[in-house]
Amino acid sequence: MKSYSRKVHYMEYSGARPTLGLVVGEKCSLMVDAGSSVDHAEEFLECANSMGVKNIKYLAITHHHWDHISGIPYLNLISLGSCKTQEQAGLDIGFEKKLKLDLGGVKCIVEHIGGDHSDDSSLVYVENEKIMFLGDATYRGFWGERRYHSLENVRRISDRILSYDCELYVTSHKDPYSRAEMEDMLYRMIELGETSEKYGSLEELKSECQLELTTEDEFYLEAFYEGISKKGGERAG
Ligand SMILES: [Zn+2]
Repeated sequence: MKSYSRKVHYMEYSGARPTLGLVVGEKCSLMVDAGSSVDHAEEFLECANSMGVKNIKYLAITHHHWDHISGIPYLNLISLGSCKTQEQAGLDIGFEKKLKLDLGGVKCIVEHIGGDHSDDSSLVYVENEKIMFLGDATYRGFWGERRYHSLENVRRISDRILSYDCELYVTSHKDPYSRAEMEDMLYRMIELGETSEKYGSLEELKSECQLELTTEDEFYLEAFYEGISKKGGERAG
């Protein structure tokens, strides 16, 4: 387990296991995501236990994908998430827009933001500590076998994510981002999304656009073009 502060810790991702969060309050504590298996959840609890954290009461679920919810039956905590996550993962508590939790000396906001990856996604923001757990909300969405981004969704979640006074952003399958890194990534995604709308295809863009493209830029551009095809397909359908 990595300690960000006295009150916020996280167990880092590895392989299929997503990062799991722990927010320690004076009254009770919150776990973020339930893990990809009973073993994963068990290991997390053992770790928390060895740190002297024995009062975990709540479990916030960022979204309903299997690697984030498989530990739920083992954990026996009060589970909560957006109404959409509640429906799909059978959580105890569901909320429409946001939920505020007071753990004693530390407050959290869980807000439904949706996005391309999964439209039930929520962020978990820890006030004063200035850290946020984002699950997979900034990642690409699934469209059959294909992976996509849509400019509209990226713009919307960026607004929500950057609206909080936050210094560290923890996503589930990558290393944490500083504020500057998160801004850079989101603004670059938006710029690439806007650029993708100006050219008919990635090939056309590459031959005509003056932008110097990195491998990562191309990764995002491919996703935006998939998003444009998806939208076209939906209109035609
Ligand atoms: Zn996911």
